[in-house]
Amino acid sequence: MNVLVTGGTGYIGSHTCLALLDAGYTPVIYDNLSNSSIKVLDQLSKISSHTFDFIEGDIADSKKLKATFEQYNIEAVFHFASLKAVGESTEQPLSYYRNNVAGTVTLLETMQSCGINKIIFSSSATVYGDPQYLPIDEQHPITATNPYGWTKVMVEQILVDWCKTDYQHLAIALRYFNPVGAHPSGLLGESPNGIPNNLMPFIAQTAVGKREFVSIFGNDYNTKDGTGVRDYIHITDLAAGHVAAFSTHQNDSGSLVYNLGTGKGYSVLEIINAFSESANIEIKYKFAPRRAGDIASNFADASLAKKNLGWTAQLNIEAMTDDTWHWQSKYPNGLE
Ligand code: NAD
Ligand code: UDP
Repeated sequence: MNVLVTGGTGYIGSHTCLALLDAGYTPVIYDNLSNSSIKVLDQLSKISSHTFDFIEGDIADSKKLKATFEQYNIEAVFHFASLKAVGESTEQPLSYYRNNVAGTVTLLETMQSCGINKIIFSSSATVYGDPQYLPIDEQHPITATNPYGWTKVMVEQILVDWCKTDYQHLAIALRYFNPVGAHPSGLLGESPNGIPNNLMPFIAQTAVGKREFVSIFGNDYNTKDGTGVRDYIHITDLAAGHVAAFSTHQNDSGSLVYNLGTGKGYSVLEIINAFSESANIEIKYKFAPRRAGDIASNFADASLAKKNLGWTAQLNIEAMTDDTWHWQSKYPNGLE
């Protein structure tokens, strides 16, 4: 089965392409390269000995999407393409609504006109806002605290409404917790442009000397050591979660939602310590004020995915920091 992977040269999309290929699907990659490198394609080929078909295109380009759907006889879409920087989204909300929301509407309209009924969407645990209880299950109310988060809430709602219009429509929203790590080969990983917003890439860049120290945003939270607690999930497990969700439900219909997390929370200090051990380097850090909008703790109840999909995260925090270090030390400047 040929499937389209929008955002397929990005961090999560590229790893998922490998998992899809392993599972017997043929992913066709569609990306406008606004936040990824064309060199990802060479890395994917090195790892898999497979040449992935690639279309440089934007999800807003209905004509190009339609031509791609028809050329490759696409049967389902894995939709990763999105802008994802929370801070930037508060400065340029309209770009975020246009790219993430309007772009998804164009994608769905084009799918519909081509008779494609199945979409797997990259949502986020950000839709839970400041958790009312922990661990967070899929029934937890959803909300947002910034435009990026609202784009995820809005697209989830659009998918619910879209599924109501045709009994053949299938939409699976996967709510990721904190994706980290890299492919175990060290050939593929995350390389954010500019100064990383997220903790793991910041630590990794500190370890290779690109950053002087890690600022820990807050040490007075009501957590085990005062620093923020998150549910970090290895990118390989996250990719496997997509395959599990699709292979379980590919003949079903309706709108579905799953948390993809480990169910375990680690503090910022625990992550820094784990990384220091993986890299055998002391990671310098300083305590800094809390970051605006941050929450104390966040971790998943991932039991629905276990029950329905037979999926659980396999890799522990050591694998996450080992693989991040392997990638970062091999490619300190990413693929560029
Ligand atoms: P990424 O930026 O590495 O990948 C996104 C890809 O989409 C990039 O290759 C970019 O070039 C492409 N893209 C963006 N807009 C596009 C458009 N209009 N048309 C075509 N391509 C476009 O990000 P990622 O970390 O791999 O995230 C993938 C998805 O998962 C996103 O939807 C993101 O919001 C979601 N998500 C990410 C995280 C995380 O921490 N990384 C957490 C939760 C959810
Ligand atoms: N964090 C930090 N320093 C950084 C980046 C992040 O202390 O340079 C903390 C942040 O406050 C949170 C955790 O690390 O407690 C994870 O942050 P990240 O931005 O990676 O993910 P998110 O906030 O989206 O869960």
